[in-house]
Amino acid sequence: MPSAYEYNRDEFAALMDDEPHYRVEQVWHGLWTEGQEIGHITTIPKALRSRLAEQFPSGLVVANDVQSDHGATRKWVFRLGDGSTIETVLMSYDDRVTVCVSSQAGCAMGCTFCATGQAGFSRHLTAGEVLEQVMFAVRAAAPRRLSNVVFMGMGEPLANYRVTMNAIRRLHDYRGLSARHLTVSTVGVAPAIERMAGEGLPLTLAVSLHAANNATRSELVPLNRRYPLERLREACVTWMAATGRRLSFEWALIDGVNDTEDALDELAKYALPLRAHVNLIPLNPTPGYLVMGSSAQRVRQFRDGLVERGVNATVRHTRGRSIDAACGQLASVTNGRRRSLPVRSA
Ligand code: SAH
Ligand code: SF4
Repeated sequence: MPSAYEYNRDEFAALMDDEPHYRVEQVWHGLWTEGQEIGHITTIPKALRSRLAEQFPSGLVVANDVQSDHGATRKWVFRLGDGSTIETVLMSYDDRVTVCVSSQAGCAMGCTFCATGQAGFSRHLTAGEVLEQVMFAVRAAAPRRLSNVVFMGMGEPLANYRVTMNAIRRLHDYRGLSARHLTVSTVGVAPAIERMAGEGLPLTLAVSLHAANNATRSELVPLNRRYPLERLREACVTWMAATGRRLSFEWALIDGVNDTEDALDELAKYALPLRAHVNLIPLNPTPGYLVMGSSAQRVRQFRDGLVERGVNATVRHTRGRSIDAACGQLASVTNGRRRSLPVRSA
């Protein structure tokens, strides 16, 4: 049985057509505005509540719940109906509360340095499963308001395009999240970036670049063989022209691989004409890739080198290292240089 978040407004109303219109409105308001679990919507009678809870079960079962940064970072492992597991991370800052969601169970892209890539692909998530992660975080963040959603958890969101866009549209239309507070992180599926540019939503786009020469990038990100840097650049240009938004490049610094002076020059040459912002993250070591992240000193030097070359660059603070939430795909997306505030427990 699917979750209530699997449906758009009309579909959901049709499933409840035995109830008066105002009841449907109450449930919808409870689900989206308040972010309540369907069985906990107190504006409707208890019998209806239990019936709906049975009809529309959540689909996510908490398999693990850990926190770090004095509670400002929380990670959940959820088990889905078919036994596969996904991860969701909630990060609280003083100016925003961000959830990092998974778009797939596993990932088929096979990036060599990524734990998810090493584990392979299980299946696409449904829109309801993506939205359940967000709403779970909404409740955990209360009384603070969840402000940002980043598709940086497990999976490649643009390989699950329809579901990603569906979830984004509903967060925008039903939850009132602004498009710029919704971030899609992609490994660089060029045609999907172009398709997304035509959706009419000025989302935030993060492209996981990691190398700005084709030989190195193809080693790190196998998809580069299909959409090499020149093709990716075209898609970035289309994105900016259509949305008026700048984009950011993610760059996980790997000792001796992409933190060299050559790498610095190549990146500056690629990023400058696009006026892209570069987010630097030291690589988090994973069991399947026996290379180290760059030292803190090299990370700073690399940042300074970019800034000297006129590129806008920040070092991303890694959240949740101690709870393994920092495996990169689950790290904080934005340039979180501010002091964090603890999340109050729900
Ligand atoms: N598939 C999408 C989104 C999920 S991965 C993408 O690749 O963009 C989110 C981010 O985590 C990407 O920038 C990815 O390159 C990065 N990442 C993956 N493994 C990492 C690691 N071991 N250390 C640092 N960053 C990593
Ligand atoms: Fe997939 Fe992103 Fe990991 Fe690459 S980095 S394997 S695209 S999750």
